[in-house]
Amino acid sequence: MKKITIAIDGYSSSGKSTMAKQLAKKIGYVYVDSGAMYRATTLYALRHGMTSRETGVDTAALVAALPDIHISFTLAPDETQHTLLNGEDVEKEIRGMEVSGWVSPVAVIPEVRHYLVKLQQSYGNDKGIVMDGRDIGTTVFPDAEMKVFVQASPEVRARRRYEELIEKGTPSDYDAVLANIKERDHIDTTRKESPLRKAEDAFVLDNDNLSREEQMEVLVKLFDEKTRG
Ligand code: C5P
Repeated sequence: MKKITIAIDGYSSSGKSTMAKQLAKKIGYVYVDSGAMYRATTLYALRHGMTSRETGVDTAALVAALPDIHISFTLAPDETQHTLLNGEDVEKEIRGMEVSGWVSPVAVIPEVRHYLVKLQQSYGNDKGIVMDGRDIGTTVFPDAEMKVFVQASPEVRARRRYEELIEKGTPSDYDAVLANIKERDHIDTTRKESPLRKAEDAFVLDNDNLSREEQMEVLVKLFDEKTRG
């Protein structure tokens, strides 16, 4: 069967990562979480004092540091994928509210995007990849054979994210999570450099009222159609 490239884009906490991971496992493809790469870059900026409440992100310092930021992925013993920042497992830290609060301002920086998009494209050289993010179907892999755009209401997404954080033992406040989601939506859709938008040829998956199983059914059907023949 021919191998294809699968791009899954959508809003924050729309469930696209879970979906992309499950699909990749089912069809034996590599999974890459592009959001984790923006998050790890943000963590680097936070740790190196490149953010300030008054002045925002120190863009010049971060851009100068890009060659020192090495991001990779590894499989943990429980088979979940973990993100490495310069060899250190930062999976837990990059999911916290501090990184979530700074990641969109970091992701608007064109040099950051160019650096990470190049890395993302290099992962896709051999196809057989599922990548999720915001600009995968539009900028990273505009020629992807299968593109999916996932949407769900901010309230449904905030509830999911809140439950996920509580499950992971991170104390959280629903209203703060909802506010963060709305703020990220705004920044992600209005930024100049590759804003979040549906690729013209993307299939829209509205998952407000779909169970995980139903979503997978839709995706697998689409995958079968794209790889047939
Ligand atoms: O997918 P996730 O919510 O982890 O992504 C975190 C943030 O990274 C997004 O809110 C967005 O600002 C940025 N991002 C991006 N382009 C991508 C993936 C993520 O700008 N392809």
